[in-house]
Parts: sequence; C-alpha cells; structure tokens
Amino acid sequence: MFGLIDGNSFYCSCERAFDPKLRNKPLIVLSNNDGCAIARTPEAKKLGVKMGAPWHLIKDKPEMKTVVWRSSNYELYGDMSRRMYQVLEDIFPAVEPYSIDEMFLDFRGLTDAYARSHVARDQVRKIAKIPTCVGIGHTKTIAKLANAIAKDEPKFLPKPGEKHVTALFIEVDDFEDVLERLKGYPITMEERTTFYGTREIGVNEPGGHAVVFAKHTGA
Ligand SMILES: [Mg+2]
Repeated sequence: MFGLIDGNSFYCSCERAFDPKLRNKPLIVLSNNDGCAIARTPEAKKLGVKMGAPWHLIKDKPEMKTVVWRSSNYELYGDMSRRMYQVLEDIFPAVEPYSIDEMFLDFRGLTDAYARSHVARDQVRKIAKIPTCVGIGHTKTIAKLANAIAKDEPKFLPKPGEKHVTALFIEVDDFEDVLERLKGYPITMEERTTFYGTREIGVNEPGGHAVVFAKHTGA
C-alpha cells in the first residue's frame, strides 16, 4: 500500500501560515511578475478564479473585489516543503518527494498505516502549518487518484482499521480540476478506463457534476 500526501492550495497555505489575517479570505498566489493565478483557496475558487487566469484581465470584475493576492515566493514554499518532509520522516519509514507539495508514503510492512496517516495530517497541520489530504491505494497511481478525490472530500479518507481501499465512489464538483491534477501522471489507458469508466464520466453534464469511479481490480 502507498499513500500520497498533498498540501491543499499549497502556495496559499504557505502564505496563510505566516499571515493569519489571510485565513478564511479568498486568496490567490500569482505567477512571476504577478501574471496569472497559480494557487487558489477554496474561497477564491468559489468566486470563479480559474487556474492560470491572468489577473489583470479579471481583477476589476465586481466579484473579485474581496480577493486578496500575493506574489509567489518560491523560497518560502521550498522551505515549507522541507518542513513537511521532516514531519513525515518522523512518522513513516520511507517518504518520497514527488513535487513541492506531494510526497509518496511507503506503507509496505506497516500494520498501522491508516492511523499514521491521520497522525501525519494532524502533525503537518500543527508543525508545518499546512492542511493536507492523504490518498491511499494499492499502487502509487491509485494513491494519487484517491488523493485528488480526498482533497475535495476529506471525509472519504479511509478510517483507522479499514483493511483495503479497493473502490472509491464519489461525486465531485470540479471534475476538470481532478483531471487537471492527474495530468502528466503515468496512468495507462487501461487504468484510466478502470478508474473513470466511460459511463461514469459526466464531464459535460450540466452543472458540472461528475461521478468518479475508482476501482482497483488487479491483485
Ligand atoms: Mg497540492
């Protein structure tokens, strides 16, 4: 079994860690030269700020009035990423960084992986000040998918004592966002079909509601 822990709205969470005034506010972080939105809190997403949106084109819209923005600070984000890693290193025997805010956790040989995952979320939030979600699966691919789903619905995290995560069935508001996050990840077509199933994908459904069906069928 593998876990994937991922910082929620990571750059925004890093900014919030050092400026409590930003909590609960719609916050975005802009790319170099303050060009485009590259991180958004759920509050900002709700107001309609899309990933990659050029700020100068949307900032004068009335609905953007309450949005707070910050220039990106990669030194800070790298430092926060290291803090996150250090916390995890104390909890799991093997941690493999995957991106600045994502780390794979190797659960092989552990009998208390779920309990440790809950501890990890608590500790990373407490010590590194970053809220996270953990996805768990038989392969790294499934852990990654489970994480993408968990991020929208943390209540779907496996509970301590659950033996296996063989299937996840969930409705998500922003299916495009889930797909976007999985982009570039080496998922084979066969796995994609298994995960999403052609019928279950409702990308074009009115209202943007979609059902993701994730099922591990291999041994
Ligand atoms: Mg993230």
